[in-house]
Amino acid sequence: MNPESPSEFAIDPVRVEFRNVETERAFQRHHLIRSRSSLHLTLLFCSAFYLAFAMTDVAALGYGRVTLVLFVGRMLVAITAVMGLYLLRDQSESIVAHWFVASAAEVVGMATFALIVWFRPSEIPWHAMSLCIMLMVVYVFIPNRLVIAKGIAIAATAAFILIAVEKGTLTGSDALTMSMLLLLANSFGLVAARRYHRLWRDEYRALMDLKHQSIRDHLTGCYNRRHLHEALLPMEIARAERSRHWLTLVVCDIDHFKRINDTFGHQTGDAVLQHIAALLQAMTRRHVDSVVRYGGEEFLLVLSQTDLDGALSAAERLRAAIVDNPTVEAVSGSIPTTASFGVLAVDFSIAAHGATEKSLIAAADALLYEAKEAGRNSIRCGEWSDAAAGRVVGSLPLTIYDSGSPDRYPLHADWAEAQ
Ligand code: GH3
Ligand code: MG
Ligand code: MG
Repeated sequence: MNPESPSEFAIDPVRVEFRNVETERAFQRHHLIRSRSSLHLTLLFCSAFYLAFAMTDVAALGYGRVTLVLFVGRMLVAITAVMGLYLLRDQSESIVAHWFVASAAEVVGMATFALIVWFRPSEIPWHAMSLCIMLMVVYVFIPNRLVIAKGIAIAATAAFILIAVEKGTLTGSDALTMSMLLLLANSFGLVAARRYHRLWRDEYRALMDLKHQSIRDHLTGCYNRRHLHEALLPMEIARAERSRHWLTLVVCDIDHFKRINDTFGHQTGDAVLQHIAALLQAMTRRHVDSVVRYGGEEFLLVLSQTDLDGALSAAERLRAAIVDNPTVEAVSGSIPTTASFGVLAVDFSIAAHGATEKSLIAAADALLYEAKEAGRNSIRCGEWSDAAAGRVVGSLPLTIYDSGSPDRYPLHADWAEAQ
């Protein structure tokens, strides 16, 4: 997710949710722990109050059949809330289950309230006061989608006014005043709820912005080295080990970059870095591969589930694209650039002893060094191999394919010349 594209964080003014479905889902997931705990607290609190207010039924109606019916209704509210919370224990990660529980409790609560008003029509002003409080609970305290809360609150208000007019003994002006007050309660409830929904989303956006800045390189927008070591590479290695897949690291270093800086100036050098970073990002798989700015003019690509052949053809495409798409600057014109690549593939379906973050990067770097030695604008590839069947570089158990490789990797144009 890139907070630099504001459209991803645009909020729909009616629903007060992110317009982008993916962003809204990510926000809901992020917000789930907070929503869950406030749902727990509010539903238990409401259940306790519903049951405690059974006393007022006894006071108004005495012990009798109607009081018993209302008590059953009140119990139903508590049972719905408790069963809902129980359901959420198994479905704790489900946002839909969360909304369902909140909505069910609200609907059953309001239906029971309508029943109470129906059987106790002589206390309409008190009921109106209760409804105002319940509306606030629905709008603000029970975490739910705003559209659902709004629908339930408005329907409950309309039903209440109908029952009050039908069963109560209100004068015309009392009925009007009560309706106006309920309209006010709905309006303020809605305004408060909209503020909360917007605030939470603004907070989320700011958080994503900070996160983006903390894991990205400012100049190129690629991931930074801190993110590589703290999260990306350990996670990718662990995932490849778990699923026994291939993992490939590609180190890409711009050739003679110092010369570009010296010839065209540092700012043009920056533009070249940005251009090449954009090429690398555009030509790798979004959400699957990662491009890291590893050093000044050195990038590290982490290609998950990619074997040596796949990674080598990807590196060749990138090498050719850099040659074919020079940076074009207003002052300096076209700046021809080349880069060299070290491609290291690890097959985690076989035991890959010693394949740690450090050793894998060192091995990819050693391959890059070979590519530079071979005259630059070139690729050297290798496979992490315990058996070390090929050439061993230093203490790294690395098989470098340097014999018979032109047949195996026909794309590798400079290979034969380098032998
Ligand atoms: P080689 O082909 O061997 O990689 O040679 P090179 O000139 O690319 O490598 P060297 O390590 O000698 O020079 C790297 C240069 O990159 C030196 C440094 O000033 C420059 N550099 C590092 N970071 C930045 C940056 O952010 N912007 C610019 N413009 N230049 C940078
Ligand atoms: Mg360089
Ligand atoms: Mg370098």
